[in-house]
Amino acid sequence: VISLRGATKQFGGLVAVDNVSFEVREHEVMGLIGPNGSGKSTTLNLISGALPATDGDIALKGQEITGLPARDIARKGVARTFQLVRLLPSMNVIENVMAGAVFGHRRRWGASAERHAKQVLETVGLADKAKAHTSQLTYIDTKRVELARALAGEPEVLLLDEWLAGLNPTELTEGIDLIHRLRDEGRTIILVEHVMDAIRSLCDACVVMSSGKKIAEGTTDEVLSDPEVIRAYLGDDDA
Ligand code: ATP
Ligand code: MG
Repeated sequence: VISLRGATKQFGGLVAVDNVSFEVREHEVMGLIGPNGSGKSTTLNLISGALPATDGDIALKGQEITGLPARDIARKGVARTFQLVRLLPSMNVIENVMAGAVFGHRRRWGASAERHAKQVLETVGLADKAKAHTSQLTYIDTKRVELARALAGEPEVLLLDEWLAGLNPTELTEGIDLIHRLRDEGRTIILVEHVMDAIRSLCDACVVMSSGKKIAEGTTDEVLSDPEVIRAYLGDDDA
């Protein structure tokens, strides 16, 4: 569904994403993992169009999306959550989710968008907070709203940037269950994640980045037992 060929992003002298290529197949949950600062979020930013690539090509269903504005890429079917949750603060919960329907891949307006937003809020376990103001929400609920907004446009690909980070153990179990359900629905997901249990149980395959480069890829089992991958993570712990 998504393919990157030689994707590269430079910030001044820093090559944050260095000639990275990979493919994500339909219905696949692909883990994009690696130590802090290895370029995972930047890679998602290139795919979603939040940042323009310095070089390389990105295609969605065989169609070039490189260089398109983020809103066009969203319309073509890429939806995401952010590492630091970004809600529309002037809107309540359901309005945030409706924005996802209005600006997403399968667009809906008005009453249709609202009906759909309610369904999606049920999926993420927030049906009772539809009218709440975003400032009244707990941290995990803000994450749920952001996920619901991404789902509301019925994307072809969902990009989750550490959606499980910062949750307490109970929330983490719930969160993993929720992503499991999305997986069972056959959604295509790129999961940027540090939580190993989640990576093990959710990801069919993984791409591993270190210092901007892809250093490994394969099935989750292969990748997590690769000595070079383990070294990259340990190096991070020492830093
Ligand atoms: P983490 O696990 O900590 O979220 P990451 O793998 O997502 O890390 P990125 O956020 O992609 O890493 O950052 C990769 C590198 O690019 C880092 O060195 C970071 O400081 C740098 N970087 C990211 N965004 C920018 C930016 N907008 N301007 C300049 N440098 C940036
Ligand atoms: Mg990141």
